[in-house]
Amino acid sequence: MISFEQALMAVRQRATPQPDVMLAADAALGHVLAEDLIATDSLPGFDNAAMDGFALSAAHLALPLGAPIALHGVQAAGDARLTLGAAACRIMTGAMVPDGTATVVPVEEATVHIAADGTQTFVLNTPANAGMHIRRAGEDVCAGSCIFSAGTRLLPQHRMLLAALGITQVNVRASVAVAVLCTGSELVEAGAPLVDGFIRNSNGPYLCAALSMMGAAIALYRSVPDSAKAYVDAVREAERAGSRIILSTGAVSMGVHDFVPEALRALGAEVVFHKLQMRPGKPTLFAVLPSGALLFGLPGNPMSCAVGARFFVQAVLRQMQGLPPELPLRAVLQAPVRKKPGWTLIQKAALAVSDDAQLQLRVLVGQESFRIQPFALANAWAVLPESDTTLEAGRVLDCYPLQPAQSEWPCAPASA
Ligand code: AMP
Ligand code: MG
Repeated sequence: MISFEQALMAVRQRATPQPDVMLAADAALGHVLAEDLIATDSLPGFDNAAMDGFALSAAHLALPLGAPIALHGVQAAGDARLTLGAAACRIMTGAMVPDGTATVVPVEEATVHIAADGTQTFVLNTPANAGMHIRRAGEDVCAGSCIFSAGTRLLPQHRMLLAALGITQVNVRASVAVAVLCTGSELVEAGAPLVDGFIRNSNGPYLCAALSMMGAAIALYRSVPDSAKAYVDAVREAERAGSRIILSTGAVSMGVHDFVPEALRALGAEVVFHKLQMRPGKPTLFAVLPSGALLFGLPGNPMSCAVGARFFVQAVLRQMQGLPPELPLRAVLQAPVRKKPGWTLIQKAALAVSDDAQLQLRVLVGQESFRIQPFALANAWAVLPESDTTLEAGRVLDCYPLQPAQSEWPCAPASA
């Protein structure tokens, strides 16, 4: 049996990056950039006013404080650029800075006088300096610079910059088509009546929900009765549907209906591993089909299935999306935990932040692999290392949010 870490390495080694695809900016949300993205325009695109106020020339600035300055015209956002003459002009936030402008004075810093004949002047309340309250062209983004590097997952904050720069198409890694096949003659789908001895299929809906949050596309979803033949047919259908990853649940343990290894032999698959020193999820199987599709045989117990998806499928998806291996969070264990050595335990856990900004970890009660309710109360998986027996309170452990983070958290250097 291989270890949890060896299994993670083995699945990563078999994953190859997805091809690039050009997508419209909206459709690309959640996808990972396949190449650096270069700005073709600058932001701002032109010098513009940062405040509502007055555009003054250098000659106006040279006047003594309190000298009246002639005021003529308005430069509003969207107007063609004016040229300042002898008079200053009113200017609105976002308006082009008129030719000949030395500075912008906010409306609050000047007092306007309107004469009986309608002519307007103003005086400055405080001395003004050159170059104030002007947003310079290119101050935010310089045309030709890289705005996002390859490997960036496009999220709403990126969408804003793409829109501002007028970038409508981006080159991203194609999303990964995944099939979900749930084995078990005891399974009943949503809405169907439950008869004695049957259970509702909870793994299938869970996997579909978790996979879509990981950026995968569900290519096929099937319930499969307990027969090797039905399984082989479903795997073939998944391949025809373009699946690059096929997940099956159930039928990989030691029961008489645990036919997945036999079905994989019939399919000519290479079984990379079957069984590992991890709980829950000991019977997990990983194989490569002749088509190159990766197949995970996840055990049917709901927590075994969830751990397999969260750790192994997620690791493969990241690799296929061109992302580096996920970094764990590190949290302080709140109460001691005992375990058998020789097994990596993946435990449902609750993470909380203490008043002194410490990430604290509590292992939840109800770790049995059939128990779904504690999972719904958890927000993280804690990884209890293989070699340990007793883990004391205060021990720092690796843990992972139940839902993988959308943004990458770089490691901050340890504070001195
Ligand atoms: P298996 O791995 O097929 O031996 O199944 C192990 C346990 O998980 C059994 O109690 C199954 O009834 C249960 N199980 C299998 N598939 C599912 C599923 N899709 N949803 C919920 N429970 C399941
Ligand atoms: Mg079964």
